[in-house]
Amino acid sequence: MPTYLSHLECSKTGEIYPVNQIYNLSNEGMPLLARYDLKKIKNELKIDSWCIESAPGFWRYQALLPVSNAASIISLGEVITPLITLKKTSHMLGGEIGNIIIKDESRLPTGSFKARGLALAVSMAHQFEIQHLAIPTNGNAGAALAAYARQANIKATVFCPEDTPKINIQEIQLQGADTYLVNGLINDCGKIVLEGKEKVGWFDVSTLKEPYRIEGKKTMGFELAEQMQWTLPDAIFYPTGGGTGLIGMWKAFSELKELGWLKGKLPKMIAVQSSGCAPIVDAFEKGLNHATAWDNANTVASGIRVPVAIGDFLILDAIRQSNGFAFAVEDKHIIETRDIISKEDGLLLCPEGAATAAGYQIALEKGIIDKDEKVVLFNCASGLKYPMPDTNKNIDKDSDLEFSKFSIKD
Ligand SMILES: *Cc1c(COP(=O)(O)O)cnc(C)c1O
Repeated sequence: MPTYLSHLECSKTGEIYPVNQIYNLSNEGMPLLARYDLKKIKNELKIDSWCIESAPGFWRYQALLPVSNAASIISLGEVITPLITLKKTSHMLGGEIGNIIIKDESRLPTGSFKARGLALAVSMAHQFEIQHLAIPTNGNAGAALAAYARQANIKATVFCPEDTPKINIQEIQLQGADTYLVNGLINDCGKIVLEGKEKVGWFDVSTLKEPYRIEGKKTMGFELAEQMQWTLPDAIFYPTGGGTGLIGMWKAFSELKELGWLKGKLPKMIAVQSSGCAPIVDAFEKGLNHATAWDNANTVASGIRVPVAIGDFLILDAIRQSNGFAFAVEDKHIIETRDIISKEDGLLLCPEGAATAAGYQIALEKGIIDKDEKVVLFNCASGLKYPMPDTNKNIDKDSDLEFSKFSIKD
């Protein structure tokens, strides 16, 4: 399949940049967005045949991805992530069975949806023969970069806040990345990566500071649409950090819409943040186009501990254009929700995913959505990557066991 990528565009000014060159930000210092020849796609492809059935997972959408040929693709066995209906806990959250669906991104390589973005960024780096990649990360992006970079035989250098969940740090190290712990937050790590660009010569793959991670993340939108027979839910709840996924899905929907491949209306895009780090919520409430950096960012949902997002205006645009909303949930509510969904429905969500479920409850209470509306919540990573409570019950094998205690109790 040829590439239909036609050019890159500054997300602020619309200035056009030719493909086949390596870019970080635009001259304006803003994210660059990939644009495709949609007219040509419309002439050459059809809704029921544009997906490549033999490709792993999201690579089936190659027509709307930037890689120029299948040989550039770096793959670790991507899968289409399942849609799972919440059963018992639907009622507990205030909703109805069948209307709350989880898109479980934990099934992707390295256990998080960061695989989507980094698979694309690394494949493009491979295409451009880049030798060294560097990234600031709260954990999952670093793990995905490490794995895909090893697969592509590219060196990866990773900087994480020193209090990143230990298992994330270990997986990054074990997957062969040169890994450093920084006594600061993700934006402090980002400053080191930026400075090293000149001094070391590595390529910066920070969120939205190169044009292709968002192209990987947008495949969540294609996948969801295809799984729902090219329709979309009434609302999407997205745990928002750097916002690549939210912006990416909104971009995917507009591409599908322009191609005439989408039926029905677009969803409300609902950004959920933690009350310990909610810069986008703050800007949304104040009616601003840019967010103010959040001081002392702190939350158990480490993937959304992002005090400054370079694509803040794009997140806010997508929320507003979609008639969506942004609000914060308390960490306590996040953990309670994770625990109850795990215990009652057997789905161990990550805290960020649990934040969307807690957010759903709040959205109902605030009247942002109605319980008749169909919603999709994103569980972005495996719950196994995060600290869990110990609730051991010990048994002395040499004692007389009272077997009655194992019985079903009502
Ligand atoms: C990165 C991450 C997020 C935030 O995703 P963005 O698209 O960058 O906003 C949410 N949850 C988890 C688990 C993550 O790793």
